This record gives sequence, C-alpha cells and structure tokens, in this order.
Amino acid sequence: MTEFGIGVDLGGTNLRAAAIDRDGNLLDKPINVDTNYLGGREAVIGDIVAAVNRLKVQFEGSRLAGVGIGVPGFIRLREGFITNSNNLPYLENFPVRDDIERRLGTPIILENDANAAALGETWMGAGKEVDDLVLLTLGTGVGGGIILDGKVLHGALGMAGELGHLTIDPNGPPCGCGNNGCLEKIASATAVESMAYLMSLGDNLTSRDVYHLAAGGNIKAQRIFQQMGRALGIAIANLINTFNFPLYLLSGGMLPAWDYFAPSMLEEVSRRSFTYRNSQTRIEQAKLGNLAGLYGAAYLPLQNQALHSR
Ligand SMILES: [Zn+2]
Repeated sequence: MTEFGIGVDLGGTNLRAAAIDRDGNLLDKPINVDTNYLGGREAVIGDIVAAVNRLKVQFEGSRLAGVGIGVPGFIRLREGFITNSNNLPYLENFPVRDDIERRLGTPIILENDANAAALGETWMGAGKEVDDLVLLTLGTGVGGGIILDGKVLHGALGMAGELGHLTIDPNGPPCGCGNNGCLEKIASATAVESMAYLMSLGDNLTSRDVYHLAAGGNIKAQRIFQQMGRALGIAIANLINTFNFPLYLLSGGMLPAWDYFAPSMLEEVSRRSFTYRNSQTRIEQAKLGNLAGLYGAAYLPLQNQALHSR
C-alpha cells in the first residue's frame, strides 16, 4: 500500500495542501485557497482541516503517515504553538497543533515555513545529494532553514535558523524583532521597495518594478540589488564560517533578480570566508520554487516515522 504524507503550507496570502508519497511523487495538484486571514483563527484553522480532510478522502486507499504544517513565524516546537506571526497574529500563543490534531484525528507536526522549505529542497530539490545545507528564502521577509544530517536543526525551542534576523548592519533600519539592520531589512522584497523609496526612485514601486528598472539599465536600481547582494554575502560568509556545509541555497520571490544581486554576493562571500575560498562550497538557486514548503511539510511525518521505527 502506498504511504503518503500531507503537507500544508500556510502563507499570508495562500493556504496550500498536497499529498506526497514516500518516493516524493505529488499525488495530485495541490489544493490552493486564499488564506482567510480576516476571518480570524476559526476560519483559518477550519480551512486547514477542510483541505486535509479532502485529501484524506481522495486517497483513502493509501496509508496516511501524518500531516505536516509549515507556518510563518517563530514556533515553539514541543508545545505546538506559533509565538510570533506578523500575518496571522490570532494564531499566536494558541495550541494550534493540538487543536488541529483533535479535529482531524491524525498526528500533526508543526514547522516553521522556511524550515519546511529547506527540508523539501533536501528531500526532492537542489539538496538531494547532500545531508547538510542552509536555505534562505527571499520574499516579503527573509526566512532561513538549517538542515543537519538530513533533519531540520531546531535548537532548544524550535527557533533555530531565524536567519532573516542575523545582524548585517549594526546601525541599519529597525526591525520588528527589536534588532537593527537585520538581513531581512536589506535583502527582502520589502527592503528593496523601501530602499527604492529612500533613493527617490519613485513612489509605491514594487520590488518587481525595481527589478525591471535594474534590467533596463537604471544605475540606482542596480545599486539596490548590489546592496542586497552584499548583505546576503555577509550573512552567507558567516554561515559558511560557522557550519562548513557544502551547500547554501536561495529561493523565493526575489530569485529572478539573481543576476543583479549574485555578483556582489559572491564577491562578499569570497572576501569574508577563508573556508569558501579554499573549498568547493556551492551557493545556488533552489529548485522546487513555491512547492518546497509543501514537499518539506509532507515529508515531516514520513521522516518522523522512519526515525521512530529505527
Ligand atoms: Zn529582525
């Protein structure tokens, strides 16, 4: 009998769910609904439960290992809580995991969304050949996931890998986390947009607009991506110097701007990391796109089972 996991990716705008079997086959195209974030906790949890139930019914003939849910924000792994989520504040400090588990009657594993994406890339994406990697997701914010020996590195509470909050510029712009000059204040879509505003590139420009300006030869726009690249380079050099992993991956909505930020990123990494200059360390684009989080989330229960049956 085929064994499969259900992965859920709860984003600020979309709620997606998919059934994926032990060999990494997506069993059907993912369910995709708008996240009803205005509807509050009950609406969002109700939508998660409904999506999972639909997949449970659809694949009744197969064995369900469990459900993994990737959520934005800091999580407390043992308690199954989300402690800080900008998009979904009403899910904070509520026993999300236990509540969903009770409604579904199926084991649930809660995970940070970037951690889930990192695990997905390790399982079926750009990191298939390695056991250790770091993934940085460059979107509205910057997320991070660290995979050690094929598993998510959690730290004491489940909050390890919050790489968007690495300090890059001690005097940089304030961040919602309480720090100044966090990576995500320089290398996210939001950061690109506010840099464009500060450099008088135009009002209400989206990061995509800034990208098109850069591609069209606008020097100021290109400089913004160089600044983003330098910030990423500092962060990645620190990560290489810390971990000496073979692979560092970048993913997310800012990836199309690779050609504009990668040169300054690689230059910075090279300058700041002896290990990088003297090894085959790879810095590459992730492969699974926005499916990575779903793959990782679905893999969580499958991987968990394998660990326990050892
Ligand atoms: Zn921060």
